[in-house]
Amino acid sequence: MIKFLDLKKINLQYKEEILEACKRVLESGWYILGEEVKKFEEGFANYCGTKYAIGVGNGLDALKLIIRGYKELEIFKEGDEIIVPANTYIATILAISENRLKPVFVEPKLDTYLIDPDKIEEKITERTKAIMVVHLYGQTCEMDKIWEIAREYNLKIIEDSAQAHGAFYKDKRTGNLGDASGFSFFPSKNLGALGDGGAITTNDKELAEAIKALRNYGSYKKYENLYKGVNSRLDELQAAILRVKLKYLDKDNQKRKKVAKYYLENIKNEKIVLPKVVTDSVWHVFVIRTKERDKLQKYLQENEIQTLIHYPIPPHKQEAYKEWNDLSFPITEKIHKEVLSLPISPVMIEEEIKKVVKIVNEFN
Ligand SMILES: *Cc1c(COP(=O)(O)O)cnc(C)c1O
Repeated sequence: MIKFLDLKKINLQYKEEILEACKRVLESGWYILGEEVKKFEEGFANYCGTKYAIGVGNGLDALKLIIRGYKELEIFKEGDEIIVPANTYIATILAISENRLKPVFVEPKLDTYLIDPDKIEEKITERTKAIMVVHLYGQTCEMDKIWEIAREYNLKIIEDSAQAHGAFYKDKRTGNLGDASGFSFFPSKNLGALGDGGAITTNDKELAEAIKALRNYGSYKKYENLYKGVNSRLDELQAAILRVKLKYLDKDNQKRKKVAKYYLENIKNEKIVLPKVVTDSVWHVFVIRTKERDKLQKYLQENEIQTLIHYPIPPHKQEAYKEWNDLSFPITEKIHKEVLSLPISPVMIEEEIKKVVKIVNEFN
């Protein structure tokens, strides 16, 4: 079986260094908010090109804390609107609704799966405070137009960078393409921990300081609480492991790009639509589209190729958001019905990549 993603193989590449990092934490006797988190934050900010990075418990918390931070700074308030793509992972939307702001959905482009910049302006109202872009599947959004709109209407840009660690738009990386960015280090992400983890990057000092307090009970100074904060901290242990893996992120992304390039050049099947690349992608997943998605997935399974669907149900059709079930986003709904993600990873070997292409090409 060709696995969709062989996490064990990915992490065992760095076994010795990861074990060394774990030993360092064990022997330090300090397990929460210490040197490892501090050094990872410095390293990750430096990598993204931002002034600040703040480690938190997971990617959802990263996004939630950005919005919460803006609320504490009185830039956002309950009932304000945030523009988001209708086709995203549910966490993007949960981060908004948990803060009691309102997500306003915009259709993506069918060929790139990214928010359509030409459909943003018509959704702006007096309550709109931000555009939350999602660099979905590893490809950065078309930021030029989005920057222009944000400037014109005085909106914040929040990035959901959970699927695009290291991807560039022009000369800047994700994390540095807006006012604040949320990252996830869930094990299967391009930069993955051995458990949960997340981070926020920003160049905004006030926001960074508010979020630093919010992640730690709302406290700037031990036992003095400025906000009704939460407990969402990146573990020392995960930070130590992430410091190892950050060193190899570009190399790992480069390998994903090689797999993607081979797929793009060699998959030839008139029933299958390949992804369109308009910016830079670090290929978190390689998503193809076909009207016969379920049949293709079954066929690949029978041929020992594991695939996944990102994602079967769009947020507005989820039970959890019953209030929006009657909304209609035809492009989004079509995407969710037709997409299928092929195996892609930094540890796939040539034989596996070639087999995927051969079997996909023989599908009829
Ligand atoms: C994974 C992911 C998240 C959430 O990250 P967690 O660490 O699992 O909470 C948010 N947005 C997108 C687009 C994701 O892929």
